Amino acid sequence: MSCFDLPAGAPLFILPHADDEVLGCGAAILAHAQRGDRISLLTVFDGALGNTAGQWDQELIARREAELTSSLEVLAPRSEVARWSWSLPEGHAPSERDFQWAEQRLVRLMVQEPINVIYTPWSGDAHPDHKVVAELARRALSSMGHGAPALRTFEVWSSMPSGIAMPIDSDAWGILRAALACHKSQWDEGRLLERFSARSMARAPEGCFHGQVYGSSLDAARGAKRKGGQAA
Ligand SMILES: [Zn+2]
Repeated sequence: MSCFDLPAGAPLFILPHADDEVLGCGAAILAHAQRGDRISLLTVFDGALGNTAGQWDQELIARREAELTSSLEVLAPRSEVARWSWSLPEGHAPSERDFQWAEQRLVRLMVQEPINVIYTPWSGDAHPDHKVVAELARRALSSMGHGAPALRTFEVWSSMPSGIAMPIDSDAWGILRAALACHKSQWDEGRLLERFSARSMARAPEGCFHGQVYGSSLDAARGAKRKGGQAA
């Protein structure tokens, strides 16, 4: 497996839930932050079903937002991080009208902000909320045409067949572990870390202990150049 090249320019990370910033794209956030890029981050769903019973919990919404804040302080302590949280109810299939509303909102955000590349879950992720976010990003980029940011996808729960691994060295792994530990509501007595460790070991490029997998797509291959960013 070859190595993932960090795209040039300012990134927008589009997360289905708080915790995906570590589970899916923590290595990329860390690398962009260490390079000094301005980081933007959008959380789409409220995470209110993220308990062991899978039942809606209003208090969990604020708690998970706070956990995300703590996690970002670990991942990007010296970075300027612009954040949006839409708090849409998770776990339901959006209507066409919902998609159109969200697409317009996302396009507006990408036009207003200095964003050169977006990161989203890949479209084959088994989690329905992740699939929705992948489809939303595809629609928004498509409607923006040639002025659209480049696209990079990340995997969380399902393996991406054509993914490219980004190595995680021991220092970075320590930071990712610390960021994941901020998500106490999802901790599940340490099982979240066990699953994350196992998956990142399975994803590691040769000669490396941990890794995280990213993908390019036709949208990314189109190589949008925008606001100082360069084609990747
Ligand atoms: Zn998620």
